[in-house]
Amino acid sequence: MTIPKSPTSARYAGPPTPDGVAARLGIPVERIVKLDANESPYGPPPAALAALAEFARTAGGGRYPDAAADTLRGALAVYTGVAAEHIAVGNGSDELIPLLAELLLEPGDEVVVSEPTFGVYAMVATRRAAHARDAGRGGEDFTPDPERIVAAMNTNTRIVFLCGPNNPTGTPLPRETLLAVLARADELGRHGDGPVVVLDEAYYEIAALGGDPGAWTAAPLVNKGRRLVVLRTFSKLFGLAGLRVGYALCSPDLARDLRERKQPFNVNSAGQIAAVAALKDMPWLRERAVALRVERERLFAALSGFSDLHTFPSSANFLLVRAESGDDAVPLWEALLDHGVMVRRFSGERMRPYLRITVGTPAQSDRLLEALTAIFA
Ligand code: PMP
Repeated sequence: MTIPKSPTSARYAGPPTPDGVAARLGIPVERIVKLDANESPYGPPPAALAALAEFARTAGGGRYPDAAADTLRGALAVYTGVAAEHIAVGNGSDELIPLLAELLLEPGDEVVVSEPTFGVYAMVATRRAAHARDAGRGGEDFTPDPERIVAAMNTNTRIVFLCGPNNPTGTPLPRETLLAVLARADELGRHGDGPVVVLDEAYYEIAALGGDPGAWTAAPLVNKGRRLVVLRTFSKLFGLAGLRVGYALCSPDLARDLRERKQPFNVNSAGQIAAVAALKDMPWLRERAVALRVERERLFAALSGFSDLHTFPSSANFLLVRAESGDDAVPLWEALLDHGVMVRRFSGERMRPYLRITVGTPAQSDRLLEALTAIFA
C-alpha cells in the first residue's frame, strides 16, 4: 500500500534523537519507543549499576583510567578463554575498526566485505584510500557466500571483514565460511603479508546466551594462532552502549600494536569498572538474552502477519524488514516516527526498501505493532 506523506513531513537532517522526536510530537520522551540502535532495553546488569554507583561517590579519586586496562583485560581473559596478551580494549568496537585499518591498510590495498553489512568496514577502507571489494550475500536470506569471498581475496587483500550475526540482516556466519576464508588467507600469507580476517561478534552474546542452537564463537581460533581478529562489544547484551567499551581478540603482536596506537586513556574508568562488574552477572544477562530471543520470535511472527512487510529471520536482537509497497521504506520510517516509534532506515540505494527494527520489551513491541496496524489500516 502507499503510505500517506507524514503530516509533519518529518525530514530529519541527521539521525533523529528521542528528545527531538518527543519535542516535535509534543509528548514526554518516556513515550518514545527507541528501536533504532540495537541497544538492550534492559540496560546494564545490577552488578554494573552497583559498581557505577560506588564509582560516582569518588569519581575514581580523580585519577586517570588504567591505560592498559589490565583488570578488564584479565576479566576478559577469564570470560573469553583467550589470554590477556591477545586482548586490546577500545572506546567501543567502533574505535578498534579504524585502528585496525590504520595499522593494516595502505593506499591501494584491498579489503573484502559482504554487503549488506556494518557500514563502518567499507567506510574505514575508503578513508585509508583502500578499495573495498563486495562479495555480496547469496539468496533471499543474505547468507554470506564463501566461494565469492574467497574469489574476491587476492595478494592485495589486507583485511576480510566478516560479521556474525550480521548487522543489519541478522544472518549467522557459518563456521565453514570462516574456515574457508582463513584457509585462503593462510595460502595468500605464505608468499607475503597476507590478509587478516576480522570477525565482528558484536551480537555473539545475544545469540549464544539467548540459546540460539547454531551460535558459536571463533575466540578459540585466536588461541590457535590463526590470522584472525575477533571483535566484541559491551554495547549490546551487556547494556553499556553509552560507556563505550569494546575489545579485540587477536595475535599478541597485533594486540600490542593496537594498544600502542590507541589514545592512552581511550576507555574511561567508569566503562572499565562497569564492564568488569557486568562480567560477574552472567546469570542475569542470560535471562535477558533468553527474554530477547522469545520476544524476537513473537515479533517475527507478528510482523510476518503484515502483508505490506517481508520479515527476515534473525539470530540477533533486531529484525530486518522490507516494505513490499514500493522501493522506498522512508515513508514508513517517517510514519512510525509520527507514532513515536524510532527504527533504523538506510541511506544507500539498495537498502532503501528496508528497515531494521531492534527487539525491545514486549510493551515496546506492542507499541510498534499498534503503530503498524494504524499505518497500514
Ligand atoms: N559492530 C557491529 C556489527 C555493530 O552493529 C556495532 C554497533 N552498531 C558495532 C560494531 C559497534 O559497537 P560499539 O558500540 O562497541 O562501538
